Amino acid sequence: MLVSIKSNREIELMREAGKVVALTYEELEKRIKPGMSTWELDQIAEQTMRSLGAVPAEKGFDSGIRGVPPFPASICVSINDEVIHGIPSKKRIIKEGDIVSIDTVALKNGYNGDAARTFMVGKVSKDAQRLVEVTKQAFFEGIKYAKVGYRLGDICHAIGEYVHSQGYSVVREFEGHGIGSQMHEDPGIPNYGKAGRGIRLEPGMTLAIEPMVIQGKPNILELDDGWTIITEDGSLAAHYENTILITEKEPEILTILKK
Ligand code: MG
Repeated sequence: MLVSIKSNREIELMREAGKVVALTYEELEKRIKPGMSTWELDQIAEQTMRSLGAVPAEKGFDSGIRGVPPFPASICVSINDEVIHGIPSKKRIIKEGDIVSIDTVALKNGYNGDAARTFMVGKVSKDAQRLVEVTKQAFFEGIKYAKVGYRLGDICHAIGEYVHSQGYSVVREFEGHGIGSQMHEDPGIPNYGKAGRGIRLEPGMTLAIEPMVIQGKPNILELDDGWTIITEDGSLAAHYENTILITEKEPEILTILKK
């Protein structure tokens, strides 16, 4: 496993790519509403990224699995019991009360920024709201350990323990990842694990940390499109992700706009 340490120049480019992703989510949050298709969300995201000098890195992404076409869109959109990798469609209409998970990657000047959000559309159930909030908090519980002096497993452990303490499950088949000039770099970052294990965190590492949380049992299924992942028991799922930079002090979150 080779975990790349980014130079100052690379870090500056990672900040720029991350900012594009943050601005894309700002735009999506403003415009998402019931009655819209998931295809419209995809168009908004792609136009926003391109207007900022970036390209949507998920478009044309090849899973490497034989017989599965490359991902056809700029964002993954996964609604309610869909966990990740949902494909945008003109036929898929967002309804009041849906929770809509979007995951997208912007590539700018050769570097990637990756983040995911679960949007609550209109008035959602209390249960759904709690799931979305716990998923977001799980990220922040994890990055308490995204510091020099800790190991990767400390982040993974903190995420898993927090999610389980709230009565939810984490997805085990998919994980976060290093990120840089490649969308997916080493190390893999599961949302569970043993504290004190794994690589030592070092300044200049850039990591995409992404809790994927299920309300019910952790089991998942893949739809026939070869992409969309759903919960086996039909319960809701949520996703929250940011690209972060390990520094000498607190981690820097690259995909949230700085105040
Ligand atoms: Mg992502």
